[in-house]
Amino acid sequence: MEDCIFCKIINKEIPASIVFEDEKMIAFNDINPQAPIHILLIPREHFASLNDIPEEKKNILSHLLLKARQIAQEKGIAEKGYRIVLNTEKDSGQEVFHIHFHLLGRRRMHWPPG
Ligand code: 5GP
Ligand code: ZN
Repeated sequence: MEDCIFCKIINKEIPASIVFEDEKMIAFNDINPQAPIHILLIPREHFASLNDIPEEKKNILSHLLLKARQIAQEKGIAEKGYRIVLNTEKDSGQEVFHIHFHLLGRRRMHWPPG
């Protein structure tokens, strides 16, 4: 989608530190990390937020989540723990309107979130 910064990363129009990619998704390091590990996982297909994922595309959600789990395992944080965040729309703090999971780890997280 035009003017979507994450679509530009997918299309390699702007650079990113890519951790993993396949035909459905890519994962890359967050430019402003909130933890020692802070990776964003996004589908190649543009959906603005969770609210825009149609029923027939629901498999992309499990694919992204299980890939986040696999990356956590590969980074060695699976056992100690990690956090996956899916901000949805303005009140959540979503700033980039191309759906993305945050994978955060290698530090102790706090609850409740801010
Ligand atoms: P949101 O608040 O929408 O859930 O999260 C957006 C995330 O995207 C933020 O953590 C922000 O640091 C990250 N981000 C925004 N622009 C870029 C960019 O151009 N490159 C990368 N790697 N991350 C970005
Ligand atoms: Zn996009």
